[in-house]
Amino acid sequence: MSNKIKPLIAGNWKMNGFNADLDQIEAIVAGLAARGRASCDVLICPPATLIAAASALCANSSLMIGGQDCHVMDKGAHTGDISALMLADAGARYVIIGHSERRHEHSENDGLVRAKSASALKAGLIPIICVGETRAERLGALAITVVEQQLDGSVPDLEPDQQIVVAYEPVWAIGSGQIPTSEDILLMHSSIREWLKNRFGERGSQVNILYGGSMKAGNAQQILALDNVNGGLIGGASLRARDFLGIIDGA
Ligand code: PEP
Repeated sequence: MSNKIKPLIAGNWKMNGFNADLDQIEAIVAGLAARGRASCDVLICPPATLIAAASALCANSSLMIGGQDCHVMDKGAHTGDISALMLADAGARYVIIGHSERRHEHSENDGLVRAKSASALKAGLIPIICVGETRAERLGALAITVVEQQLDGSVPDLEPDQQIVVAYEPVWAIGSGQIPTSEDILLMHSSIREWLKNRFGERGSQVNILYGGSMKAGNAQQILALDNVNGGLIGGASLRARDFLGIIDGA
């Protein structure tokens, strides 16, 4: 893991979590407090229904809360959608954009991901922009090309005070228990770092690049030790505080 960048450990609860599960937020808050000064930033992205309540529970904690998606517009006639401004108003600091489940289940393309990311930045949120290849693309030796194309299309321009996070999430590794080899993660993250430096100059060397896909306490330390892996985006293992804190300990 690069020394200069403070790692970000981010949990994505997806469509999981009821009011009764807010005790997991409380347990993470307590776990972070017990661990003292944080060596990494920690974020949970619960479903939108829990953002305000979870944010209130984090008021005196280093734990941050984020959203899982946002609309491109600030407000208006978009039934069922939530804007980045609304997420910020509810207490969110980050928002996941272009997760593979949204790209596949909601046909989100790079242009939409870019527009949503720009809207998040305008609302003062930090977008976590997700990219990653399918299994067929990996087997066809296309992983790096595909991810570069996704970055070309998905990453918005940045004002000097704006910040993004990139999450590399191989689609085939999400929820499958399978992870790429360390060598493949290294190669991909160094290619993303080069892309960021080409696009943003020196600023590109300060962007957190997260790894996501079947990360858990047992493999986190090994993955997070790799060059240019500046944190993790964690699905299943973020749902229970004990599992999630185990990953934070690995970082
Ligand atoms: C994810 O959905 O972003 C993810 C990484 O899921 P999991 O950790 O369950 O593979």
